[in-house]
Amino acid sequence: MRAYNFNAGPSMLPEEVLRRARDELLNWHGSGLSVLEMSHRGRFFPKIAQQAEADLRELMAIPAEYRVLFLQGGATSQFAMVPMNLLRGKRKASYILTGEWSKKAAEEAAQFCQLHVAGTSEKDHYTSVPAPETWQIDPDSAYLHITTNETINGVEYQFTPDVEGMPLVADMSSNILSRPIDVSQYGLIYAGAQKNLGIAGITLVIVRDDLLGRVVPGTPTMYQYHQHVKQHSMLNTPPTFAWYMLGLMCDWLKRQGGIPAVAERNRHKAEKLYACLDGSGFYHNGIRKDCRSRMNVVFTMKKPELEEEFLETARTEGLIGLKGHRAVGGLRASLYNAMPEEGVDALITFLRNFEHLRG
Ligand SMILES: *Cc1c(COP(=O)(O)O)cnc(C)c1O
Repeated sequence: MRAYNFNAGPSMLPEEVLRRARDELLNWHGSGLSVLEMSHRGRFFPKIAQQAEADLRELMAIPAEYRVLFLQGGATSQFAMVPMNLLRGKRKASYILTGEWSKKAAEEAAQFCQLHVAGTSEKDHYTSVPAPETWQIDPDSAYLHITTNETINGVEYQFTPDVEGMPLVADMSSNILSRPIDVSQYGLIYAGAQKNLGIAGITLVIVRDDLLGRVVPGTPTMYQYHQHVKQHSMLNTPPTFAWYMLGLMCDWLKRQGGIPAVAERNRHKAEKLYACLDGSGFYHNGIRKDCRSRMNVVFTMKKPELEEEFLETARTEGLIGLKGHRAVGGLRASLYNAMPEEGVDALITFLRNFEHLRG
């Protein structure tokens, strides 16, 4: 029996996707080869790569003037690649701090430019997104960076900020493809694949054409977006299997009815779980209601000394990965696209039973 995996990443994959990967593993579509063995420049892999991009473009309605890159190094490499490529002769960049990941992105950027913190929810311990009316964006910034879902803190933007005079850059690692977005409101979007898009090893970058081509001097070739654009993300050997898995995920998402249908399911799953937490006197979620993440539901228990027992009992019932991130502690349930509603229902039943026995 498969467990319900609530880990923040790598995360659960749809069983259908895993079965298809298994069925195709030894001999992909009669090629006589496994995807694991294929040359990225051979007869077959380019088809897999192109189909993945076409499906992703369709799902997100990516406008023609945007390039889609499939890179390595994780979202963490993007923390450096973004300033290296997008400063374009400017010296400053503005960042909104809403939790652990935006802080990391900003720290890295500070190595390349003058960091301007345009807004922060530090005062409320990163339990909200600061109101955009209060943001103080430096007009000389090369770009404004946001983290649309704070995976560790459980905070998510419920809006797309309107910025003028500079591109908006977003780390969407943990909520990409979970709800509809208008790509044209962003200059650049990046996301590691291992949360909502498949498996670890591949990182998606969606970037508007006109931002490319002017890098910080000394930037290594592998860190230049426009070099990857020129070579169709095959400047070197790409992570072929992860690219293939990303394609299977896109195909699966299309068959779920596309992003609007998936978003509706995600909203419903998260609402159910928050209602359960709010309705109990035993569990607590301290995120401001209009900033709560649909992807990562963080919570604590009235008796934190029971956390180990909680996690162990949950594990024996097939509910795994509920421990909060070490930076913030507590508990966390990640409800990415692949988490079925039955998994959320099983968690809710478990939460009620545990409270009944030990609360
Ligand atoms: C997981 C995560 C990262 C780091 O991703 P890696 O691919 O491990 O580098 C960065 N930002 C956010 C929002 C994340 O959730």
